[in-house]
Amino acid sequence: MKQFPDLKPNKADALAALAVLLLAAALGARLWTSPPGAAGAVVVSIDGAAVERVALGEWSRTYAANGYTVRVEATAGGVRVAASDCPTQDCVRTGTITRAGQSIVCLPARLVVTLTGAAEYDAVAG
Ligand SMILES: [Zn+2]
Repeated sequence: MKQFPDLKPNKADALAALAVLLLAAALGARLWTSPPGAAGAVVVSIDGAAVERVALGEWSRTYAANGYTVRVEATAGGVRVAASDCPTQDCVRTGTITRAGQSIVCLPARLVVTLTGAAEYDAVAG
């Protein structure tokens, strides 16, 4: 007579399941710290042409554009226009942008600050 296999989970099965769970958690953690859309670099354009591409970090730069002076400040997580002498101040009011693809526009100065992805930046830099 054929014997049915023991279907009760044994210790080895439990360890294997635990290993799979840990692996899944590790992968999840990696995705969480480095999502595909994470911003990695700032591109500053004046008159529609990119004039500078800088990796995100703690920095502050001032750009002269069409008679206006625009100060751009970045942190590890985003970038903003900290000060501008343009009449509308829309760029300053936009605040900090933190996601790749977002941008800050200063129409009077015709200056655009755009966040790009880290991978995109690496491709350009490498
Ligand atoms: Zn402005």
